[in-house]
Amino acid sequence: MDGARVCIVGGGPAGSFAALHLLRLAKERGVQLEVLIFEPRDFSRPGPGGCNRCAGILSSRLLRGLDSLGLSLPKEAIQAELHAYAVYLDGQVVRIERPDPARRIVSVYRGGGPRLQVGEPVSSFDDFLLAQACAHGAQHIHARVHHVEWADRPVVLTAHEHYDADLVVLATGVNSRAPLSPAFGYRPPKTESMAQDEIMRPASWPADQVSVFFRKPPGLTFGALIAKGRYLSISLLGRGLTRDTVSDFIELQGLDSALGSGPTSLCGCTPRIAVRPAQKYYGNRWVAVGDAAVTRLYKDGIGSAFYTAQSAMQAAVQQGVSQRAFQDAYAAHCRHVARDNLYGRMLFRVWSRVLGSPTLLRAWTGTMRSEASRPAGQRVHHRILWGMFTGDELYRQLFWLAVGPGSLGSLARGWWNAR
Ligand SMILES: Cc1cc2nc3c(=O)[nH]c(=O)nc-3n(C[C@H](O)[C@H](O)[C@H](O)COP(=O)(O)OP(=O)(O)OC[C@H]3O[C@@H](n4cnc5c(N)ncnc54)[C@H](O)[C@@H]3O)c2cc1C
Repeated sequence: MDGARVCIVGGGPAGSFAALHLLRLAKERGVQLEVLIFEPRDFSRPGPGGCNRCAGILSSRLLRGLDSLGLSLPKEAIQAELHAYAVYLDGQVVRIERPDPARRIVSVYRGGGPRLQVGEPVSSFDDFLLAQACAHGAQHIHARVHHVEWADRPVVLTAHEHYDADLVVLATGVNSRAPLSPAFGYRPPKTESMAQDEIMRPASWPADQVSVFFRKPPGLTFGALIAKGRYLSISLLGRGLTRDTVSDFIELQGLDSALGSGPTSLCGCTPRIAVRPAQKYYGNRWVAVGDAAVTRLYKDGIGSAFYTAQSAMQAAVQQGVSQRAFQDAYAAHCRHVARDNLYGRMLFRVWSRVLGSPTLLRAWTGTMRSEASRPAGQRVHHRILWGMFTGDELYRQLFWLAVGPGSLGSLARGWWNAR
């Protein structure tokens, strides 16, 4: 690859991580590369225009990844250290504490914070990553890629320039149309819609907690309120969500008074989240990473962006940029993520059965309560839910834990006590 030009389309986490991994691997091998990142957004801007719309929870898996690249997240980018999830069910609250200090999670803003700012501007996570990629030798081209054509090799076209590329890395996520010409055969992932909003965090609302809600309004898979310094992000996943769903959610969950009767929306959006892998995500001289390729179901998308980018760039540097190289050295990683999501899907299905059955729900609530008084190592159901909410354990591990004797025994005791 010595002397090669790599064009990375998209400067969100996947694009910046691809550049950082690539430049590190190239340096280790004494290889010179020209790495261009095409990204039209200014991530320091407040509001949706500067933001890759997301709940902004960074998993411990991702934080370990940042460490491995020698990146330390600046203090001002961390909006909250999150120590607990509070699960709200029919007026009851079950608190799940972080199972161990090594499993740290934090919240960040992807862009410059809510559109309507109160006080000091917010420091952006995506801005930090892109700046790091540039500090390590990448060049940021502040432009949208309109088209990527094939003419013996990929050619990247912006409104005013064209760039011949030895490798194109597609890191455009799932919230805009991928600019590859049909000749590449790329078919993007299937998506579901989410609704997001930002409000002020009332002084009485915990500053280190994520609160999760289910069932209401109809069609909601889950809703989360994430503490972010002086703000709270509201993030809803489900079927047929619109911006109005957020106010329905607040009303139907009875949150009006706790949130300061009719909280003012400071920002809002309805982004898409990837729920299935892309169909053809690599070929000769091109590869997709992050959401544009495959991501973990509902969780830790930024962590997935880190690890898909790492695997794809290792393949490129160690095996070359042919379709065969990506098939041999990258596809297995993506298949592994997609297979793990099948376990995730089963876990979420079981969870929705529990929510739909008063008996199971009573047993589960009883189990969570009795586990709370046991040592951390014995709280099986707490560990399962923490893993499902944060994405910091594989779904496969959590699934086998859930159907194992420890978990079923604990549930049976919970059911017995709750009769
Ligand atoms: C509501 C919601 C909540 C979420 N919450 C979390 C969470 O708490 N934690 C977590 O880890 N993940 C979360 N995710 C998932 C996470 O947002 C994604 O997995 C992650 O952003 C993927 O990174 P990416 O770089 O692949 O894509 P993106 O972040 O979408 O970045 C793509 C970039 O490509 C640029 N781009 C697009 N088209 C072009 C073009 N033609 N030319 C140049 N640039 C282009 C865009 O401007 C953008 O900057 C959430 C997702 C949603 C929708």
